[in-house]
Order: sequence, then C-alpha cells, then structure tokens
Amino acid sequence: MENEFYTAFLESAEKAIAEGSAPRSFQLKNDPLPDSVCNGHTLDRFRSALSKSIENLDEELSRFEKMFSSKHNAVFWASDYNDVFESLKKLLKLHKIKSVRLPNINASTVFRELGIKYFLRDQKIELSDEGDMQFFVADMMFSDTGSLLLLNQTNKGLERLTNNKINVFFATIDCIVGNSDWAEVFQQLTSYNTGCGSQDMLVFRGSANCNNYLFIIDNQRTNLLQFKDLRQSLTCLNCGRCSDVCPVYQTIGDEPYNNVFAGPVANITLPYLETVESYRHVAYACTLCGRCEEVCPISLPVRDMIVDSRQVLLANDGVDKNDRRRLAAIRKFSSNRKKMNGYNLLKRHVLLKYLSSDYRKSHHLIPFSKETFNKSYKKFTENGKGFPEAGV
Ligand code: SF4
Ligand code: SF4
Repeated sequence: MENEFYTAFLESAEKAIAEGSAPRSFQLKNDPLPDSVCNGHTLDRFRSALSKSIENLDEELSRFEKMFSSKHNAVFWASDYNDVFESLKKLLKLHKIKSVRLPNINASTVFRELGIKYFLRDQKIELSDEGDMQFFVADMMFSDTGSLLLLNQTNKGLERLTNNKINVFFATIDCIVGNSDWAEVFQQLTSYNTGCGSQDMLVFRGSANCNNYLFIIDNQRTNLLQFKDLRQSLTCLNCGRCSDVCPVYQTIGDEPYNNVFAGPVANITLPYLETVESYRHVAYACTLCGRCEEVCPISLPVRDMIVDSRQVLLANDGVDKNDRRRLAAIRKFSSNRKKMNGYNLLKRHVLLKYLSSDYRKSHHLIPFSKETFNKSYKKFTENGKGFPEAGV
C-alpha cells in the first residue's frame, strides 16, 4: 500500500515537471548534461578517474607538484588559512606589493572560505584591476602535466596572466585529477553552476616571464580521508544540480549553515571541515529521498554517505562499545514490523533491558506513540477519509 502512495507521488511530480508547473524543488535550471562529451560511458570513466585521485591523493599531489615546479613555478602547502596568510605575507613583502587584482570574489568559494578579502584589508593592500599581483582560483589541478584549469576568467584576467609579473593561484587538495584530457568534461559539468551555458576555460601550464605561486590548501579536507565510506564526497564537482532538486535544501535555502559550504554534500563534509560539535546536526538535514543522486552527473552515493556519516558521528558520540552493541540489538528489534505493532509496555521493556543505566542517565528515552502507524492508517482508510496530509 505504501508503494502505491509513493508511486502516485512520483507520478504527480513527474506530471508537474512535464507541464512545467512543478515547484522549483523539482526542476533543474537547464539540461543537466548539455553536451555529447558527457555521455554515460565518459561520465563513468570520469567518475573513476576522480575517485582514483582521491584514493591515491598523496601520490597524485606529489606527481603534480613535481611537474608544476619543474616549470619554475613554486608550490606552498597550507594546512589551513593561517598557513596561507603567513606565506602570503612573506610574498607581499618580498615583492613589495601595494595592490592586488582579484577576480569576482563573491563567486569564488575558495576565496570566501579563506576570507581573503579581510586578510588583504588588514594588510592594507588595495584591490585594483591593475594590481601588482594577480590572484586566481585554480578549479582543477592535472597531475600528468602539472597544469591548472582556470574557468570563467575575464579577458583582462587572461591577458594579464601571461603579462603580469606575479600570479598567485589557490587550489584545494581535492581538486585534482590524473589526466588533463578531463578538462573539457569538467568544464561542461560545472557550467551548470554558472547558470549561463558553457564557461570559458584555460589550461595554464606556466609562463616563463612570470613568477607563479600556487597554494595547495587542505583546510581540514584530509579529516575525511580517514573514512573510507565518506572520502568520495571529496570528488564532488560542486556543480549545484543536487541543491536544485533537494527538498530540504530548497526549503532552508542558500547558505543555511552560516557557512560557505552548503547543499547535499555539505551534509556529509561540514562536520569534518569545521567541527563535529558545531555541525553534527547537518548530517540529519536529509530525508534520504535520493533526488540528489538522480541528477548527480558523477553518481555520488549521497544517501549512503549521509547514513555512513551518521553512523560515524554516533560511534564517536560518547556512546561506549557495549551500548553500541545494545543499540544494534534495538535497531534489529525495531525494524521488525510485527514486534513494533505490539504493546508499548513490551517495547519499553526491551529498551530498558538493552540500555545501560549510564546511557539512560545522559539520554532521554523517547516515548512510543499511543497508537502505531499501522493502526492509525487502518482506521483512516476504513472510515473512507484517507490518510490526513501533513500539517492538517
Ligand atoms: S537524499 Fe537528502 S540530500 Fe539528497 S535530495 Fe533527498 S533530502 Fe536532499
Ligand atoms: S553531489 Fe553531484 S550533483 Fe551535487 S554538486 Fe556534487 S557533483 Fe554536483
């Protein structure tokens, strides 16, 4: 019977999408895969290339560094924004920099993550189109050629890239793939985020007449590497398709966590990129409906990762080993529909039996509702009213 409800819901949603009357939460801004470059086979290969890079991140990064540095470019490793700022201060001093040219700061998550605007303001560095030094965000690093992918740069920015004396690039450690042939696929998939079709792209291999510095920034991303089931979240392209169809995210909107990271994948990554204490709750801001996975071009298993993340958080939540064993027994008991339709007294007895008194001191036992779902459902369908809608 539940399946019938679900099928009817999906049918009405699909009909609304076809008629164009669907709420925004059911619509993508444009064709999710706009070009023949992105056919199923190519996407499968791209996904495994990204995945391979994350699984062998240390090797990929050192291969990249070797290639990039061989062209007289310099790499700075930064574990967090303090490292970035310390080295940047030295660079500004070394080159006697008074002004910096920044691309559109509000469009760049990396610049916002670092708070680069405030750093430059504190250093009394002027922002100018003709700045002595130019900053870029590298959207991808290619370890085979030691080159950088730059998307959506203005003509002026690109012109100055080869003529300007000092260029500083910023990339995060997860933006790496082993082969520069993936540049076009990456560009096409991430164009969705810009909302204006294809974006300009340049694969930058260095320029002999410039000083090129690259900051490779961790900022806690390596925290995710320790969890085998969660580290694939680092392959996310940040294309934004999933945010456009996620019912939760569409309801709570834009930057709900007071953080530059938002959207379905932030549900997985935020507790590790920030602190578990402050962001544990975001792992629960998900109904596990799976819409995000349907539109994800690289088929990230978002739901599985969210469930895994909840388990990891629970396992580190001050619950001791014995209680975890007991909780597993309770989970088994509570997934038995027959048992859950039984008497509340019996169910409570099972909870009390399995949970230690220490656990009960620090956790509330949630009371069972007086009537089970099955009983309520039967009652409503028998009296011909149908099941009430939420909030009625
Ligand atoms: S599974 Fe979760 S994150 Fe994905 S669309 Fe549904 S509610 Fe959003
Ligand atoms: S999870 Fe998939 S759809 Fe969502 S931003 Fe990442 S790559 Fe895009």
